[in-house]
Amino acid sequence: MVYLDYGATTPIKPEVVEVMMPYFKGHFGNPSSLHSVGKVAKEAVDISRSTISKILGCKSKELIFTSGATESNNMIIKGLAGKAIKQGKNHIISSKYEHHAVLNTLEQLKDFGFEITLVDVKDGIINCEDIEKVIKPATFLCTIMAVNNEIGSVIDLDEIGKICHKHGVVFHTDATQYIGHINKKISLDNVDSFSFSGHKFNAPKGIGGLYINSKLDVYPLLCGGQQERGMRAGTENVPYIVGMAKALELARPASSVLMKYLTDELKTIPGVKINGEKAKRCSSIINVSIDGVKGESLMYALDQYGIAVSTGSACNSDSDGPSHVLKAIGCSDEEANNSLRISISDLTTAKEISYTIETIKTLVALIRS
Ligand code: PMP
Repeated sequence: MVYLDYGATTPIKPEVVEVMMPYFKGHFGNPSSLHSVGKVAKEAVDISRSTISKILGCKSKELIFTSGATESNNMIIKGLAGKAIKQGKNHIISSKYEHHAVLNTLEQLKDFGFEITLVDVKDGIINCEDIEKVIKPATFLCTIMAVNNEIGSVIDLDEIGKICHKHGVVFHTDATQYIGHINKKISLDNVDSFSFSGHKFNAPKGIGGLYINSKLDVYPLLCGGQQERGMRAGTENVPYIVGMAKALELARPASSVLMKYLTDELKTIPGVKINGEKAKRCSSIINVSIDGVKGESLMYALDQYGIAVSTGSACNSDSDGPSHVLKAIGCSDEEANNSLRISISDLTTAKEISYTIETIKTLVALIRS
């Protein structure tokens, strides 16, 4: 199988499986237990936290392990909202093309009296002036994703962070498609918190993290024991934490040369539009609309040829209607329905890309004929 849906999830690398195995077997202890079996597990969590923190450039105590980016986004948004309301602040800024882990969290907060402003993302570009224009005294948080999971557009985190800070607003970014894919460290001077998921960079599903600047005052999402310094109760998933640390050590960006080759070749097909082409884009995700070709039909046809791609976000695949991301960047319903997302990784080879390009060209001609 040629797997080109790394934006949805990634396989666990063998080295990651290897470091996890002892913690499923002999070292099964609870890190909160005081005996030596527990101490081995605690030490593994501590070392993993330190490894990940070093790579991210934060302090160990600023990193919280969660079940993934959905939980991390919920935790920071709801956790800050709970504190803000006490200070009489109730306004949050975000964008129209966020992942539903953010959008639906914000939607739920409306029921609790919060006001949400979603800025435009025409062509996949976020204008800082649009953010600054809507900041008001009640604004306490701005949350904008670092890399869009459907079109691969990358925002200028520093520019947005500086504007937020100028007005005393916390800046959070959903960095799920950034961490493990883009080498440049996120500047912690400009970004106050960010979330990530291990399975996007070859760790297992169900483990992720949240960086929270130690100056922020945040309510925990889950209450219970004192794990994660009281910020995330529940016994730690020791093997997965160990695996995520190894996976992040091994993580490499997808080849920009391969992405350019794929992009250039796709553009040679008549009636192909690269969605979000005007925006700065990452090397791992490309989204195209192909005139007269339903994305879903092409996706299933490619599957028959042993190629796995997607029509958008996997988290959204059972919802009806065109992608909210493509609509937000200005695609028509038809363009959105004719879209295909191809996402590559450091495991992708030139041979896989060549085969995919040839197959897409053949199938597009066949569907159109
Ligand atoms: N944010 C973004 C940008 C994502 O791509 C995803 C996963 N598709 C999530 C959040 C949610 O991640 P998870 O399902 O691992 O919680």
